Amino acid sequence: MDKSISDLRADFPILDQRVNDEPLVYLDNAATAQRPTPVLKQVLDFYQTDNANVHRGVHTLAERATADYEAARDRVQKFIHAKKREEVIFTKGCTDSLNLVAATYGEQNIQAGDEIVISIMEHHSNLIPWQQLALKKGATLKYIGLTKEGELDLADAAAKITDRTKIVAVTHASNVMGTVTPLKQLAKLAHQHGAIIVGDGAQAVPHMKVDVTELDVDFYAFSGHKMMSPTGIGVLYGKQALLEAIPPYQYGGEMIGTVTEQASTWAALPYKFEAGTQNIAGAVGLGAAIDYLTAIGMDQVEAHERVLVQTVLPQLLAIEGLTVYGPTDPAKHTGVISFNLGHLHPHDLATALDMEGVAVRAGHHCAQPLMNYLGLEASARASFYLYNTAADAEKLVSALKEAKEFFR
Ligand code: PLP
Repeated sequence: MDKSISDLRADFPILDQRVNDEPLVYLDNAATAQRPTPVLKQVLDFYQTDNANVHRGVHTLAERATADYEAARDRVQKFIHAKKREEVIFTKGCTDSLNLVAATYGEQNIQAGDEIVISIMEHHSNLIPWQQLALKKGATLKYIGLTKEGELDLADAAAKITDRTKIVAVTHASNVMGTVTPLKQLAKLAHQHGAIIVGDGAQAVPHMKVDVTELDVDFYAFSGHKMMSPTGIGVLYGKQALLEAIPPYQYGGEMIGTVTEQASTWAALPYKFEAGTQNIAGAVGLGAAIDYLTAIGMDQVEAHERVLVQTVLPQLLAIEGLTVYGPTDPAKHTGVISFNLGHLHPHDLATALDMEGVAVRAGHHCAQPLMNYLGLEASARASFYLYNTAADAEKLVSALKEAKEFFR
């Protein structure tokens, strides 16, 4: 480890500011993370020294830009332990990656009467693409429920995944409750029934070591901006054989083999899925963010967030009238915690916290079916990342107590 967690805050100048005359405590990391100076610098350097379009040019800048872009792909491959670089597709983000799978694999393989199984804790990005595919094809969309502790109910999964199931699509970590799901066991279950499994890694890849080969997932999606990269860049991992068997997602430049007036052939992987000019600087930034996270070590990142949750969760649970949704065992948690305080509307609560400099999210968190399942309209959500400190956790608790007094 080159960097200790405690001295990396200097890399995040955005955190060093006051909001409403209080020091900023940024706890909206599940929505988007902050970018450290080395990532910002790498993006600036790219634009200042290497910027050109990739793959097409033979001039020096084009070759440098291509090398930068492809080096970022290599970093992603290594980071998520994909077997081959061809299995790493750059996309606009997690939503784009999941839509890609639904529009290609789903379009090609789902027929009337088939079943698609997802969990009730899915973000809309891993729900609506499957819902719309099912509606279009006359397939059935089934939901795996939760245990009383807010974990994915494996017994329910075993009952819902059958020989009629063609696709299982489940989040690796909930963006609402911080629950980590048993993706490897779900992959095994799906494969036993001849189905494929799609993992939504938006809330997992930034926070823990992810090994797509070990998980044995068929597709796996995540976004760069939740792991300190620029917005507009994401990844779809897919097993090579599957990516080769499905049609392209979009058509245009870069993704072709040959084009004649009436027909076209497609480029080899991964370029078949990268139509048009890509977010080259975004990929470079993602590569830099991966270097940054790797220097710290993902085990360290996960352990740091767990300590923060271990500190804050019991204190939240001790506030009278405060309800936490999801697992209350810190060992089963990412750094995402959702809660409500009495009958206070979460938007009012988030506004009160903002007055104390504490940035949290309030709303349905793009998971309306989960909210309905939990009997809620909305919740407040605090989400921690590697640069948050014990003092940030303490400030959240004290600001909540103040809000409680204020609205008494
Ligand atoms: N899946 C989960 C679990 C998420 O938390 C999010 C974003 O919050 C997404 C998917 C969608 O990510 P993006 O908006 O970056 O495409």
